[in-house]
Amino acid sequence: MIGFQARPLGAFAAAVATAIAALIAVADGDAAAGETSGAAPLRTERVVIMVIDGVRYRESLGERGAELWPNVNGPLAAEGILGRAFENRGLTATNPGHAAILCGEYQIIMNDGSMRPYKPTLFEAYRKATGAPAGACWLVSSKRKLAALSHSRAKGWGGELGASVDCGRDGGTKNRDDAATFARALEVLEQEKPTILVVALREPDSRGHGDDWEGYLAASRASDGYIAKMVEAIDALPHARGRTALFVTADHGRHDDGRLDGFVSHGDGCNGCRQLPFYARGPDFRRGFASETKAEQVDIAPTVGRLLGFEMPPTKRGRVLEELFAPASAPAPAPVPAPAPAPKSRRGKLY
Ligand SMILES: [Zn+2]
Ligand SMILES: [Zn+2]
Repeated sequence: MIGFQARPLGAFAAAVATAIAALIAVADGDAAAGETSGAAPLRTERVVIMVIDGVRYRESLGERGAELWPNVNGPLAAEGILGRAFENRGLTATNPGHAAILCGEYQIIMNDGSMRPYKPTLFEAYRKATGAPAGACWLVSSKRKLAALSHSRAKGWGGELGASVDCGRDGGTKNRDDAATFARALEVLEQEKPTILVVALREPDSRGHGDDWEGYLAASRASDGYIAKMVEAIDALPHARGRTALFVTADHGRHDDGRLDGFVSHGDGCNGCRQLPFYARGPDFRRGFASETKAEQVDIAPTVGRLLGFEMPPTKRGRVLEELFAPASAPAPAPVPAPAPAPKSRRGKLY
């Protein structure tokens, strides 16, 4: 508040500084008597995480972003944060990528849904800290194999703390179209009022593996539409409006053009596989901000913990994304008024 406070002061000078600070605080009239200084309480009460499977940065926020993600790069950018240096630094495959997001730790797990993560998920950490019921956390996905991420196999954690799941269709035996998954996600948001909702869409990845360039682009564009619709839904629901943080990212990208089979596959450490779109919007976040700070998938879970007031178990790399948060004095953001089957899988390929 006062410039010279940072320097060492004599006792008298310090007393004067304190008195001046107190006078200024009273003059401002903004602090109730006895209220301690510090960050304002956070407003976020709910979190939605959308994961768009296998979309490259290039076809979401990068070179073709304005054309393919017009909502996120347009009106939504003004309401939130675009991450321009966001990466998967672990295995660039579906289940490992989603696990990094949900657990705050890169883990070597099978990509076919046969292995649960060995580090606790944010669902488990949240429920353990708060005693919230299973209905407080939801995992809704197009790919059935993501059901393996509803909880971990960590000792002292596990199923009794896991998320409610709705992954794939026909009882989780088949993958589902994104349109159906998204409709289900909106239903869950509206009816179950979850504290943590994770929505995982698959079509950019599925079209890419099908060597269907136009289909991949169309699926990426459709994902932008789902993101915009999610924002609309959040702003239309009294229990969500003004108290929900939305995160959007991907589990992995796809190979750079000219590397191996290019956009068709993924799974190595090339930039196309690692760099991901990132978007965040919420009542505690900056607005109209593009972050160039390096950030990673494993940072999302600790950040969600900060927003909702629980701690993720310690992780090797994950950090709270402090750069997303608006300065404590920032005014509350004003509330805003209110696709197709996939190709057959190929042996030996990462999905
Ligand atoms: Zn690659
Ligand atoms: Zn894939």
